[in-house]
Amino acid sequence: MQAQTKNNVVQEVADFLKGLEKAAVTTHTVPDGDAIGSAVALVYLLRSLGAKDAVFCHAEEVPNYLAWLVPNKPLFECPLGYDLLVTDTSRSDRVGVVHEGVHPIRLNLDHHEDNPLYGEFNLVDGSAAASAQIVAALYEELDVPLEKKAAEAIYTGVSTDTGGFRFRNVSPAAHELVADLLRAGVVPAEVNDRINRTGTIEQLNIVGASMANAERFGEALISVVDREDYERTGAGELDSKEAIDRLRNVAGVEVVAHLREVEGGTKASLRSESVDVGEIARLFGGGGHRLAAGYTASKPPREAREDLLSVLKGVVDLGDGAGGAG
Ligand code: AMP
Ligand code: MN
Ligand code: MN
Repeated sequence: MQAQTKNNVVQEVADFLKGLEKAAVTTHTVPDGDAIGSAVALVYLLRSLGAKDAVFCHAEEVPNYLAWLVPNKPLFECPLGYDLLVTDTSRSDRVGVVHEGVHPIRLNLDHHEDNPLYGEFNLVDGSAAASAQIVAALYEELDVPLEKKAAEAIYTGVSTDTGGFRFRNVSPAAHELVADLLRAGVVPAEVNDRINRTGTIEQLNIVGASMANAERFGEALISVVDREDYERTGAGELDSKEAIDRLRNVAGVEVVAHLREVEGGTKASLRSESVDVGEIARLFGGGGHRLAAGYTASKPPREAREDLLSVLKGVVDLGDGAGGAG
């Protein structure tokens, strides 16, 4: 069916969900807490609505700290004959399973404001703190009570995407939702234990390296980790993914970047409290939110850093060392 490239309202999507018989839900590549949380909560919603079968699928291994949420055995592709629904995924090329030409994307549910509405149905709300919050709105619209497991999935999404209720996307609505989730049986300390206390010494060391490698360029702070850091710490490329949030506490810094070496180039994470870093990420072929965005460059991290600095030059004050090799 042809994509409508129009945003639907909650009620239209609720009606669409009621008609589904067999559905598979996936999310973006390199899934985070909101990715898995929103997808899993949608699986439980479909089951409560009486779907014959509803499953979570993803071509990648779900990271350890989120695997406890997944309600079925690992499924690395969308099963044949199942409708494909996608959550938290800003573009169709970031969808976590093979879909082009085989599984049309029937629902695109997301909170990235740059989402181009690539689904047959689209439920995109840039004001939601997390995609999981949008799934919660569907529970409410459909009058489906929140079971503890679904509530934990939603809580995981909202708490991780808000940095533990600290970021600028936090709203009264997000806190009101959390009150409902706690009434549904969520114990925040339990969820926090499962999410945040499952790290490894290698992760701790590479996050430490990310902090030690941070350099300041006026209002910008950039940290690079590369193959040498991985070798020294025994960490893998993904292990420093969370480091970006540990780089955000230097006074006077407006843009924070973490550049980690990946196969064939560099993965960049950008964060800010004031600058539209989504726009910067899009210049490099990436995307994301206004204050949290990312991209992948096909250059080694130190070259990628120079490219980033030359863009940042026009955006923030880089101080004396502006654009230098640092
Ligand atoms: P990250 O720094 O990887 O946690 O990503 C921050 C935000 O930017 C997330 O909302 C991602 O969806 C988005 N993002 C990260 N990398 C990319 C990319 N290569 N293309 C589009 N969006 C991205
Ligand atoms: Mn996400
Ligand atoms: Mn999200």
